[in-house]
Amino acid sequence: MRAIYHWLFSGPLRRQLILAVATVHAVMMALLVWDLVSRQQSVVLTQQIEKARAVTNSMAVSSAGWVLARDVVGLQEIVDAQQRFPELGFAMICDVHGKVLAHTDPTRIHQDVTDLPTTPVETTLSKNPALVDVAVPVMLGQKHVGWARIGLGHDRMAAEIDAITRDGIIYIFGAVLAGSLLAALMAGRITRRLYRVKDVADLVRAGNYDQRVEVGGDDELTAVGAGLNTMLDELQRHTAELKASNEEIRTLAFYDPLTQLPNRRLLHDRLQRSRNSRSASSHHGALLFIDLDNFKNLNDTLGHDIGDLLLQECARRLQLCIREADTVARLGGDEFVIILNELAEQPDEAAMQAEAVGNKVIDELNRIYDVAGHELRSSPSIGVVVFRGHELESDELLKRADMAMYQSKAAGRNTLRFFDPAMQATVNARSEMESALLVAIQTNEFELFYQPQVDGNDHAIGAEALIRWRHPQRGMVSPAEFIPVAEESGLIVPIGHWVLREACQRLAIWANQPETAHLVLAVNVSARQFRMPTIVQEVKDLMAYTGIDPSRLKLELTEGLLLDNIDDAIDKMTQLRALGVSLALDDFGTGYSSLNYLKKLPLDQLKIDQSFVRDLLDNSEDETICRAIIALGNSLGLAVIAEGVETEAQRQFLLKQHCLLAQGYLYSRPLPENDFRDWLIRRQPQASEKVGYGGTAV
Ligand code: C2E
Ligand code: CA
Ligand code: CA
Repeated sequence: MRAIYHWLFSGPLRRQLILAVATVHAVMMALLVWDLVSRQQSVVLTQQIEKARAVTNSMAVSSAGWVLARDVVGLQEIVDAQQRFPELGFAMICDVHGKVLAHTDPTRIHQDVTDLPTTPVETTLSKNPALVDVAVPVMLGQKHVGWARIGLGHDRMAAEIDAITRDGIIYIFGAVLAGSLLAALMAGRITRRLYRVKDVADLVRAGNYDQRVEVGGDDELTAVGAGLNTMLDELQRHTAELKASNEEIRTLAFYDPLTQLPNRRLLHDRLQRSRNSRSASSHHGALLFIDLDNFKNLNDTLGHDIGDLLLQECARRLQLCIREADTVARLGGDEFVIILNELAEQPDEAAMQAEAVGNKVIDELNRIYDVAGHELRSSPSIGVVVFRGHELESDELLKRADMAMYQSKAAGRNTLRFFDPAMQATVNARSEMESALLVAIQTNEFELFYQPQVDGNDHAIGAEALIRWRHPQRGMVSPAEFIPVAEESGLIVPIGHWVLREACQRLAIWANQPETAHLVLAVNVSARQFRMPTIVQEVKDLMAYTGIDPSRLKLELTEGLLLDNIDDAIDKMTQLRALGVSLALDDFGTGYSSLNYLKKLPLDQLKIDQSFVRDLLDNSEDETICRAIIALGNSLGLAVIAEGVETEAQRQFLLKQHCLLAQGYLYSRPLPENDFRDWLIRRQPQASEKVGYGGTAV
């Protein structure tokens, strides 16, 4: 029972409404039908009884004489005459004792009727609607002589009541159906609007305070919606206020009000985060402590307002010097700190990167300031400390950077010093080398050496041009030492141009001599040089200037040049090849080699990096890599050359793998031009004979 109650009056509103309306309709209609039917029944019954009485009375009056005379035939005629009433059940006439004298059913004649009243009064023996049974005494004057009795059925009445009942049931169903439909419609309207309220509530829970319930009309749901909307307005206002005050608290707590830069507290937090970051264990970070050299002076002479404006401009310029992942903070006064993240894994390289940013800061802050109509000059002194992970506490790092900053003040200001003397030495050496390289370019201290490249029959097919720097004091400087410095400083562009020109001029001379006319000269082009938009034009101009056969020139490129803008690289490579120049991918296997781009590159040759060739016979992994590169080259239709071939065993292995082209000390070291020419001439008579370690070793 409880369960039914629960089922009825809980659950969805729609069901509750439909059930309630349907139940009320059904009960009320059923009551109405029942009432109608029973009223109709009693009316019909009363009429029936009246009629039965009238008929029986007239039968009694007309039969009195015949009863006394016992004229059975006459009586039977009277009885039969009653057949004119279609609803007649029976008609009979009895004597005073109840003996049947005439009956519509002849078999009942002469039988005795026992249920007659004992006194001669008109009596209704049965009010059963199925059969109204009325007995009337037959009187002759004052004398009671017999009974007239009639039973009237109610066929018509029953049919009429049945019809009323049937119609009633139809009306009940109709009412229930119409009621339910109406209830469903109303429920739909109500619940739809309720769901709209709920949807808004859900959105608010998800943090969206902008939604509102649509209101229109003047019912209770509209009032609820309007109430909710007002509540949301209020909530939104509160949240906005809360956010604003949170933001304000945060700004006050973590930012410097003058420059809007992070303050000391946030700096510590960021430094902590930088040391905890995922890459912090392998990558270096750096802290740059920056102090303005003459700020106190400016502040005292021009006033604090000007000083403040200058600091704001400094803050703006400092932000231009860093990447998004880095942080500039103001410690207070004229002291700023920069945190650099994600520097190189190698400490020396990281020092270079930090120095590069430091130099950028020096350049930026040295630019003339235009502050409130004053043209001001300022310069920074910078202390740098390079760190990795948690080796040192944050405070210690700041202290060291601060100490280094004092060293740069001591060194004459407007400069940068590392806390670590070894790093300082590296950086010094670098910048010394940079200046020396600049001089070398101007005074032409470079030379090209040539290292032969041979085919499977050990015939020289060409050479690689390798730069040498004859330093006036230091003697020969290895390209491995100065090329990276040249790359970083951008000096590689003029140096690379010199190499290309020299190589083309050499090719032009070779073209005129039988022993060199067939040689292909390979020239290294660095990534930075290749990225110059003028590189293709440069090659074109050199070819026009020297008149060389382009197929004699080969450019050795590295995968590094694909990193930046692969489409641009492919475009330039395509243009170069269209000129007739061939292209080799140098140091192959050490870079970011991916088959995807390799397929797209317009290449002629892969050059297996010497690191794989070196341990070819001792290291099975290197052996596998060599095999794979050779197979890859073959399948892409590229020639494969091995560099750094030093031993006969390596040569044999490579030949067996069908890598026919080779370069290495086994054949010759890189040689000055005249030694290279001697080497060629010496080998010419017996092509199959191998000459190792000839010429001037470098
Ligand atoms: P690289 O392009 O991989 O050049 C090959 C280097 O391996 C050369 O060193 C060469 O002397 C050395 N090498 C050749 N055969 C053998 C061998 O059998 N065993 C050993 N251990 N080494 C061998 P190098 O001349 O010192 O050049 C070093 C790197 O400097 C070059 O590597 C190249 O990346 C760069 N470089 C040299 N000249 C130029 C140049 O003109 N332009 C540019 N951009 N880079 C250059
Ligand atoms: Ca090379
Ligand atoms: Ca190489």
